[in-house]
Amino acid sequence: MSASRRDFIKYIVAGSVASGCPIDKALLAEPQEKPSLANIEGEQFAICHQVRDGHSFAKPEATRKADIVIIGGGMAGLSAAYFLRGKDWLLLEKEEHFGGNAYQEEYEGQAFSTGSAYDFRDSYCDHLAKEIGLNLLPIDMPDPTIDNGVYTPDTWRSGLEHLPYSKATIASFKKFTEDILKLDPRKDIMELDAKPFTEITGAYAPEITKWWDAYGLSNWGAFTADTTAFIGVVDAQYLIRGEDGTRVILPGGLGCVTRKLVETLKPKYGERMLGGATVVSVVPDADSVRVTYARAGNAVTVAAKVAIVCTPKFITSRIVASLPSDQKQAMRRMRYAPVPMINMIFDKPVYRKGYDNWCPGNSFTDFIVADWTVRNQPGYKPKYAVLTFYSTLREAERSLLLQEEDCKAFAGKVLKEFQKLLPEFNVDPVEIRLYRRGHAMMMAVPGQYTKNRLIASRPMDRVFFGNSDSGGPESLSTEAVRLSHAAAEWAELVLAGKPGAAEWARKALAEVTF
Ligand SMILES: Cc1cc2nc3c(=O)[nH]c(=O)nc-3n(C[C@H](O)[C@H](O)[C@H](O)COP(=O)(O)OP(=O)(O)OC[C@H]3O[C@@H](n4cnc5c(N)ncnc54)[C@H](O)[C@@H]3O)c2cc1C
Repeated sequence: MSASRRDFIKYIVAGSVASGCPIDKALLAEPQEKPSLANIEGEQFAICHQVRDGHSFAKPEATRKADIVIIGGGMAGLSAAYFLRGKDWLLLEKEEHFGGNAYQEEYEGQAFSTGSAYDFRDSYCDHLAKEIGLNLLPIDMPDPTIDNGVYTPDTWRSGLEHLPYSKATIASFKKFTEDILKLDPRKDIMELDAKPFTEITGAYAPEITKWWDAYGLSNWGAFTADTTAFIGVVDAQYLIRGEDGTRVILPGGLGCVTRKLVETLKPKYGERMLGGATVVSVVPDADSVRVTYARAGNAVTVAAKVAIVCTPKFITSRIVASLPSDQKQAMRRMRYAPVPMINMIFDKPVYRKGYDNWCPGNSFTDFIVADWTVRNQPGYKPKYAVLTFYSTLREAERSLLLQEEDCKAFAGKVLKEFQKLLPEFNVDPVEIRLYRRGHAMMMAVPGQYTKNRLIASRPMDRVFFGNSDSGGPESLSTEAVRLSHAAAEWAELVLAGKPGAAEWARKALAEVTF
């Protein structure tokens, strides 16, 4: 490809890094300091602190009523609304679109994911997808690895023999798989969840930690040294045993499910689904919950009987008033990795050998073929080939997402590294789309699953704390759906004044689903 054509690649940067609390300054009751980049980015939460403390934000009297307010319109909020069809709910989402981390975009009608990739057959999310008329298709292919200029299919089983490493390293990979299968993570969950995965991988060839660095960053936002050994062992067993054969998806990743949920709900409940509505305060008291949101320059307060809060905990901890201090601390202890999601659109076929392709040691961890599960359907003739690159950043690198130019430069780096992986990859895309996700991926760090989340997600009398980060052990859409199902039952019990709601919620939240 000529350098001149390379100069014409179109870069589009989208997505909100201001996921913390982007508030229209006109709504603030007191003069504010000049906004700094840090405020905009959401890390310092200066505005949110003032909102939380209740002295800087105009919280008007309630002018609207709803039995249930659902806050956050990602997979959790949308599925809660779906499970509560027919009840009096109001759904508030800060972005103009719904979907959160499971949001689909398109290029000339070809769908691709800007976050959540795939689901598992018979999961809660798969059942919900079926119920709303989506048949997620099997991926039906174990993951390859591309390293040292070599493509190795089925990395963790038949591929072990063929990995492009020394004999001693391959022997170490084999020993690792044998040893991992001897462990019983469900039995030893407390012990494993208390230590980093490197305490296990460190005993083997360094290429093993390098591989899990890529896999962990992409799946749960953490390098091996930051990963709980529990999730490391669970996922290693799952790959070695070939349980990844249960994976299912359609083009668009799990954005296809949120999109279908919106299409299902909108015709009947459109006026109760508000986009561009940023919740700035949730104040529970004995008889009600007052939820204030900012929308189109106005502050509105809704008086609700219950609230289902489906925002990630770093936001939840800043908008919900009167949280017990141990709970607020547990929410704040949760860590989130920033993710620039990069889609490259090619006007010719580039690669169709594997669905999720691991590329350890690069600025991206893996890439996905967007239309993998429909590629062989009769009559399917795509005009473009779309590859989706996962490139989770370290927490300290989050500021890269603030500047559009830095985002474009990063996408260019990903392209260059991709083009060097295999000779046939030296092709230029017609367009590169980067979707910024500032605090996207809950990190599966030691202690988070067995200890911290149970405190962080403890329900209040009239507030249920949903979102996939109330479950785990990694960030999973099916956990968002499972907990929203529980939240819907909980809300109905509270509204009916029946006993047992708190116990029901606690049990659902504490359930270990792995
Ligand atoms: C890059 C990436 C890849 C992933 N891959 C997979 C995968 O392959 N399979 C899988 O199962 N899971 C995957 N996940 C995890 C999955 O995407 C999430 O678990 C799921 O989408 C979370 O849904 P949620 O509704 O709980 O939270 P979110 O998607 O975080 O939704 C929260 C919503 O709340 C909104 N919000 C925030 N603040 C406010 C406010 N103040 N007022 C109103 N609204 C607000 C946000 O805009 C957002 O829409 C991935 C995640 C990422 C980031």
